[in-house]
Amino acid sequence: MKAIAIERNGGPDVLSLHDIPVPEVRPGEALVKIEASGINYIDTYFRSGLYKVPQFPFVLGREAAGTVESVGAGVESIAVGDRVASASFAGAYAEYASVPADQLVPIPDGVSSRDAAALMLQGMTAHYLIDGSYDLKKGDVALVHAGAGGVGLLLTQLAKARGATVITTISTPEKAALSKKAGADHTIDYTKLDFQAEVRRITDGAGVHVVYDSVGKTTWEKSLKCLRRRGSFVLFGASSGAVPPFDLQLLAQNGSLFASRPTLVDFIATPDELRRRSSEIFAAVLDGSLSLRVEHTYPLADAARAHTELEARATTGKLLLLP
Ligand code: NDP
Repeated sequence: MKAIAIERNGGPDVLSLHDIPVPEVRPGEALVKIEASGINYIDTYFRSGLYKVPQFPFVLGREAAGTVESVGAGVESIAVGDRVASASFAGAYAEYASVPADQLVPIPDGVSSRDAAALMLQGMTAHYLIDGSYDLKKGDVALVHAGAGGVGLLLTQLAKARGATVITTISTPEKAALSKKAGADHTIDYTKLDFQAEVRRITDGAGVHVVYDSVGKTTWEKSLKCLRRRGSFVLFGASSGAVPPFDLQLLAQNGSLFASRPTLVDFIATPDELRRRSSEIFAAVLDGSLSLRVEHTYPLADAARAHTELEARATTGKLLLLP
């Protein structure tokens, strides 16, 4: 089968198309014929070496949707031919990938496999960010960085549905328009304006209850200064680079802040939690309260171009690979 693998860490040029055997299915696993794979920022961390890969060659990608091709011993929850999706595949940039069967969710009728692939990782992330990591309440004011990104557009919509006021940061007028369309009350071009000063101005000096910061290195310090007393700093990504080690005393100096560094696996760790989050996201898409933006689809062989565009801030919404 065709798959995109890396043999060393590096830039997008280390992504290359390989012909490798279809993975063997072990007990408790399922093999899925992939219809669409999601590209996520985390894939760039494994490619670059920010996150360690277990071995080379390494097939990138964790998120995909497709049809069950075969199941290993002991699997009863799903059957051959079922339409399924997961954010936990081992090597989703491929024509086939295996996954523990309890990490799969059935795709409901009315949701396409492409949309399911687009929703699993970023949709469930947006879900846990408002429900689990910081429990967003009606009347809260939230700052969402990279508001026109894959997670950003979904998070903005879910936060608005909870009754929060949402301020986003974006880098172009086009991204501002998309973020507004997703429901943002205010957008700030953080490449031109000081977002800390803008957030204070918009909130009449009060600051926000929560900052959802996936940008990291270039934003974290000012993010802390955007928070109101006892506000929550939720750092969930490193799109501009990793946040350096910092003195926890900063949290006291900025108003007894809470800081967390959540990751999706801990919020879908049990089959019940996985089912609850995925079914709520699918339901929101089906009832029209959550819209998906899948503007960028690439053939599997073009994974390097997709990574280049994602890292160049040239994309909005979800990026999919089509094997
Ligand atoms: P995005 O579509 O949000 O792309 C990243 C965006 O970050 C860019 O479009 C850009 O938006 C902004 N950005 C700001 N500075 C930079 C920079 N120096 N280089 C590149 N981008 C920059 O990606 P995803 O939706 O896939 O992921 C968003 C973030 O969420 C990532 O950091 C990812 O790691 C994190 N994440 C974390 C999860 C978790 O559980 N912890 C799960 C899923 C995602 P703009 O041009 O508007 O500034």
